[in-house]
Amino acid sequence: RSGFVAIVGRPNVGKSTLMNHILGQKISITSHKPQTTRHRILGIKSEGDLQVIYVDTPGLHLQAKKAVNRYMNRAASSSLSDVDLILFVLEAGRWTDEDENVLLQLKNARAPVMAVVNKVDRLNEKNELLPYLAKLGQRHAFDEVLPVSALKGDNIGALEAVVEKR
Ligand code: GDP
Ligand code: MG
Repeated sequence: RSGFVAIVGRPNVGKSTLMNHILGQKISITSHKPQTTRHRILGIKSEGDLQVIYVDTPGLHLQAKKAVNRYMNRAASSSLSDVDLILFVLEAGRWTDEDENVLLQLKNARAPVMAVVNKVDRLNEKNELLPYLAKLGQRHAFDEVLPVSALKGDNIGALEAVVEKR
């Protein structure tokens, strides 16, 4: 068995960090600077007879005026059409127009969408998380919503368990 999982989200939400953590190696370059990932990066994780192929996408850009941004948008959206599961990565407590734009593009995707609420380690008040997750669920009928910290590795095991079930 094998499945394709696309990791999407606006720049800087932690897509590459998440992929590296899942794979246990630094396959995708991470940086505090946006636009570090310019191509699609594939990573394969084998678990028993299951092979999960992760696709780390460049961030989707709201205003693709520059050619390089248009190129990255194309690379990101073409990876959406042909996958089994979409991990929509966003930052806990920080929702921007760019997130809204990514969400818009996901409306056309056939695969189930899982909202991965990243950087929960940065929340000062842990009890802010629940209302935030509830609000998120009102924006879109996500198939799953999971808070994680890609940097610290919190809840990544739970995320992988969900991925394996799908
Ligand atoms: P991408 O553009 O979505 O691929 O984002 P990156 O993976 O390159 O990460 C962008 C920045 O966010 C980097 O400085 C990461 O170290 C940081 N980052 C990623 N995940 C987390 C997290 O869970 N917690 C915190 N505090 N920082 C994170
Ligand atoms: Mg990246």
